[in-house]
Amino acid sequence: MTLDATNPLALPAAFALGLAAGAALGHWIRRLRAAGPDPELRRRLEDLTRAQAASELANSELRRALDQMEQVAGTDPLTGAWNRRWFEDSAAQLIALSGRGDAALSLIMLDLDLFKHVNDTFGHGVGDEVLKSITGTVRGQLRASDALARWGGEEFVVLCPATTLAGATILAEKIRKAVEARSIPQVGMVTISLGVAQHQGLEELDAWVGRADEALYRAKERGRNRTEASLTAAEPHGEGEASILALTWDPRLECGHPEIDHQHQQLYSLSNSLLSAITSGRYPEEAKLRMQLLIAHVAQHFHDEEAILARVGHPDLPAHAQEHNRLVAKAKILQQEMGGVSTDLPAILGFLALDLVKGHIMVWDRRFFGDLAQD
Ligand code: GH3
Ligand code: MG
Ligand code: MG
Repeated sequence: MTLDATNPLALPAAFALGLAAGAALGHWIRRLRAAGPDPELRRRLEDLTRAQAASELANSELRRALDQMEQVAGTDPLTGAWNRRWFEDSAAQLIALSGRGDAALSLIMLDLDLFKHVNDTFGHGVGDEVLKSITGTVRGQLRASDALARWGGEEFVVLCPATTLAGATILAEKIRKAVEARSIPQVGMVTISLGVAQHQGLEELDAWVGRADEALYRAKERGRNRTEASLTAAEPHGEGEASILALTWDPRLECGHPEIDHQHQQLYSLSNSLLSAITSGRYPEEAKLRMQLLIAHVAQHFHDEEAILARVGHPDLPAHAQEHNRLVAKAKILQQEMGGVSTDLPAILGFLALDLVKGHIMVWDRRFFGDLAQD
C-alpha cells in the first residue's frame, strides 16, 4: 500500500477508515461463527478473515506512515514540542549561521526531577499529563524566537538564538521558578533541573549538547531543582578582553571542599565576564545582565555555603550569614546604581576585589576552613 505522505489530511482519514473497516469485519466474523458449519458461510468466513488480516496490515502500515509524518512535521505528539530531529536540524542551521557572524547562541537542557517516582506513584497516564503541563509552563516563559523541543523521555531542550550564557541562565532560572510555583492536579509540585551552555566558535552540535548535559548532571548532583551553567570553555567575548582587567584565581584560596571551591571559582569567572562586559562596547545591556547573573550566583552560593556550615556545626554561622546578607544587599544597590562605565567600573571592581574576595573569601571564609573536614 502506498500513501501520499505529502497530504497531511489523507493519512489520518485513511487511518480512521482502516480502523472502522477492521471493527465492521470483526462484527461480521462473530456473526458468521455463530451461524455454524455451512460450507458457503465458511468460505465467506475465510474470505473475511483474510480481509481482516489485510486490514490489520494496512492499519499498521498507516500507523507507521503517521509516525513518519509526525517526524517530518517535526512535533512530538504528546507535548506538541518540536521533536529531536527538528531540533538537530534547526540547531545545525543556527550553528552554521552563527559561525559567519558573532551572534550568540545558547542552549538550555532540562529534565524533570524524580519523575520515575511520579509514574510509580500515580501511573503513566498521570505522568503523561505532568509532561504536558510542564511543557505548557516552560513555553509560557519563552520568547517568540526561542524553541522548545523534546530531547527524549522526560528531557527537553530550549534553543535560544541571539542569547548569551548570561541571558540563557537568567531564562533558565525563570523557567525553573515558574515550574516550581505551579501545582499540578493530583501530583502537586514538580521540579526540574537545568543545564545551560553557550555555543563556542567551531564547536560541533554533539559537543555543545554534551556541555549542557554535563551542567544538567551537576544540577542533579547538587540537589536538583536548580540551574548550572557550563563555564568550561571561555565565552567568545569574555576572556580575551577580561585579560586587561581580571581577577586571577589563586589555588591558595581553596578550602578543600569541592562544592565551595567550585562555586568560588565560578564567582571569579562570572566576575570576569561582568568586568569584560563593562569595559567592552556591549554596555549597558550585557553588563546589567551579567550583574544580575553574578548576584544570582552569589545568593545561591551563600545559601549553599550556609547549609554546609550548619551541617558541620560552624560556631560563627549566624554572624557569617549576616555578613552574606550585607554583601548581597550591597550588590543589589550597586546593580540599581549602574549608570555609566566610568562610575560602574571602580564601584563594581572595588566590590568584587575588596568586599567579596579580600574581605570575605580571604577573611571570613578562612574561619570555617578548619570545620570543613567533618563534611
Ligand atoms: P532524576 O531526577 O535523576 O532525573 O530522576 P528521574 O526519576 O526523573 O530519572 P529516571 O531517568 O530514573 O526516570 C525517568 C522516568 O521518566 C522513567 C520513565 O518511565 C519516565 N518517562 C520517560 N518518558 C515518559 C513518557 O513519555 N511518559 C511518562 N509517563 N513517563 C515517561
Ligand atoms: Mg528525570
Ligand atoms: Mg561565605
